[in-house]
Amino acid sequence: MSIFKCIRCGLEKPVDDEYVCPCGGLFEVQHSFGDVSLDYFDGKLREIGSSWNSGVWRYKELIHPEIEQKYIVSRPEGNTNLYKRQRVAEYAGVDQLYLKHEGENPSGSFKDRGMTVGVSVALSRGATKVACASTGNTSASMAAYAAQAGLQGVVFIPEGMIAYGKLAQALAYGAKVVQVRGNFDDAMDIVKNGSKRLGFYILNSINPWRIEGQKSIIFEMLQQRRWNPPDWIAVPAGNLGNTSAFGKALRELEQLGLIDKMPRIASIQAEGANPFYQLWNSVDKKLVSMHPDTIATAIKIGNPVSWEKALRTIRETDGIVEQVSDNEIMDAKAVIDASGVGCEPASAASVAGVKKLREKEVIASDESVVCILTGNLMKDSDTTVKYHLGELQGIDARRSNKPVQVEPSLDSIETLLQATGTPSSVMVKNLGV
Ligand SMILES: *Cc1c(COP(=O)(O)O)cnc(C)c1O
Ligand SMILES: [Zn+2]
Repeated sequence: MSIFKCIRCGLEKPVDDEYVCPCGGLFEVQHSFGDVSLDYFDGKLREIGSSWNSGVWRYKELIHPEIEQKYIVSRPEGNTNLYKRQRVAEYAGVDQLYLKHEGENPSGSFKDRGMTVGVSVALSRGATKVACASTGNTSASMAAYAAQAGLQGVVFIPEGMIAYGKLAQALAYGAKVVQVRGNFDDAMDIVKNGSKRLGFYILNSINPWRIEGQKSIIFEMLQQRRWNPPDWIAVPAGNLGNTSAFGKALRELEQLGLIDKMPRIASIQAEGANPFYQLWNSVDKKLVSMHPDTIATAIKIGNPVSWEKALRTIRETDGIVEQVSDNEIMDAKAVIDASGVGCEPASAASVAGVKKLREKEVIASDESVVCILTGNLMKDSDTTVKYHLGELQGIDARRSNKPVQVEPSLDSIETLLQATGTPSSVMVKNLGV
């Protein structure tokens, strides 16, 4: 049977809806795994047409062995591509760089991987209302899965600080959207303190089942690499759910004897929202919350709930925490976008972070790196368009691709194209390749 275990004091208890231990630590799920092998998971790839089609539930034995099939709410999610893009690798300064594109999930971010598990557990526990605080993608995902499951969804979002694509999803999928006059951390406090009184099941990543689902990013990426771990995995870091999930996934695979090398996790924060970076570079390794400010709204978090789990990940994988500026994020995003892959601003922190760690010679040029792209390009088209128009305050849009206006005559268009070259040669020139 799976149980909850406190990561701080070790207290164990049966699974329930209380995620914070009396000692103040968070609970995580602890499984008693049955017999599993890599062949078993490879075999699942042949089972077309069942819920094993999901890039999450394919690994059910490692995520939620006990939940009954009838409760599972699946789109299906996962099965995202692992891209190799030479231009991005050259930009970051490494020979082998892969992009695991979690923006290819059904609602456009990795949040779907945790949400399918969270909403399935909510159903199995008889919940009727589910809620989350969100910088955007969690609410988009929760709204979609709640709609599918026939549950009422309530999302609490920071006022005026959420990308339009995400707000549109939450509204369209029919969740009740509550704008809190405050930032993400204020919204999170309401969810944490109000769930009992307001009667909803919490679907933030404080809910350990979300973390279980997000482990599948690692399982699927490794399976795509024929179970060959890379040297590094770089991930954007906000509330630190993913950083936590990645460490747990790798620890469990190692315990089960399914991998024999531990990749190192590089957790990348924005300079203006860097409490985990500060923690990692402090002596006492305690979190000091801050007022967050970054263009990358998905990681604009000053009081990350999963810091203790994430710290364990960095320690156990011999990992590192790095920070990057908004300008470095937007530059990296422009390169990822122009490679034809594309992502939302926060996602690009992973590539920007690898470039920085390469420059500091923490990462060697011959080490293999997988960067997680957490969200889809279309999520925050506002920021992308403003970047290319040169309208983002404080950002030097070095790789902007401005639209040009011409008279509707072939002569003027011909002159223009001869002057600037074809779009792809402009792009190559910008990249200095
Ligand atoms: C949620 C989110 C993040 C932050 O992930 P954490 O697990 O909270 O650290 C990063 N990028 C995108 C696109 C997200 O939606
Ligand atoms: Zn405890």
